[in-house]
Amino acid sequence: MLYKSYHVAHSLSEAIALLASDGDGSVRPIAGGTDLMLQLRERPCSAERLVDVGSVPELKRLELQGDVVKIGAAVTYRELIESDLIAQQAYLLHEASRQVGATQIQNMGTIGGNLGNASPAGDLLPCLYALEAIITVASPGGERSLPVADFLRGYRQTDLRPGELIKDITLRALTPDTGSAFVKLGLRQGQAISVVMVAAVLGVRAGRIRRTAIALGAVAPTIVRSIAAETVLLGQRPTADVFDGAAAAARRDIRPIDDVRGTAAYRRHVTRPLVREALTKAWERAAASQTGASE
Ligand SMILES: Cc1cc2nc3c(=O)[nH]c(=O)nc-3n(C[C@H](O)[C@H](O)[C@H](O)COP(=O)(O)OP(=O)(O)OC[C@H]3O[C@@H](n4cnc5c(N)ncnc54)[C@H](O)[C@@H]3O)c2cc1C
Repeated sequence: MLYKSYHVAHSLSEAIALLASDGDGSVRPIAGGTDLMLQLRERPCSAERLVDVGSVPELKRLELQGDVVKIGAAVTYRELIESDLIAQQAYLLHEASRQVGATQIQNMGTIGGNLGNASPAGDLLPCLYALEAIITVASPGGERSLPVADFLRGYRQTDLRPGELIKDITLRALTPDTGSAFVKLGLRQGQAISVVMVAAVLGVRAGRIRRTAIALGAVAPTIVRSIAAETVLLGQRPTADVFDGAAAAARRDIRPIDDVRGTAAYRRHVTRPLVREALTKAWERAAASQTGASE
């Protein structure tokens, strides 16, 4: 038996009410099921009561409100890939979603599931760090919002309390002088969990770097934002030497481990070229959008 019961929620209030019946920690939300079903299959007998939130209309929204992009927790990778809004306002989410799993995973897997799973190798997570995303969670007591860095508390740990649900993710739309990029190194092209990944945001005004955020995944128990690299970049001209200096500095912020996908030494080694590549792409995109060329 994989689970004790399975309820499909048709509205946010119904999902919240079903999750609130959690007295013993046995009620769990499920969206695409691409992570959770594998986890349940590893146990001989599960007492979990599942609440399917994958088609709740309030969690499927993907919209621009002023200069804020709002993404419902049940939005799939496919929907992110096909969204013009994401391509124009948060390109790195489009780029990362295209590299997740293969078609089937992109069709089923959701941004909320990537957050809920809280793996250091979750591909959207460094992007959400680099975009300084805010996560809103809902429960019968109301809603609360917190930065993604506070939401992800450690290896496979979130700040979710019993009965809480991820409702949506908000982020500021990127301005035309700002480019973004996601670069992933896996052991093969498709269905590859990241060995190291880098998300970069780079804003240039009057020839100087005025805004930047660099986040790395699979190099520590949770996502790392590289303040050392950002410090090297801010106020400088966007040149190859400056990008390389930032890439070298990024290695100071990571704490990789050995695992089946790579050694800590290998991860340290590849971090520098990956950060350099992400910064170069982000800069090229910022420059192209300032001159009116498309990405
Ligand atoms: C073959 C394969 C390849 C994969 N490749 C990649 C890859 O390349 N990159 C990558 O990042 N991941 C990959 N994954 C992992 C997985 O597909 C993603 O993490 C996906 O985003 C999970 O989303 P889901 O909707 O399927 O989550 P689910 O499996 O439904 O849920 C995952 C966790 O999140 C919780 N959850 C889901 N929705 C909510 C919500 N709204 N509120 C609170 N908690 C919630 C669940 O309770 C569960 O703990 C792969 C998985 C497989 C099986």
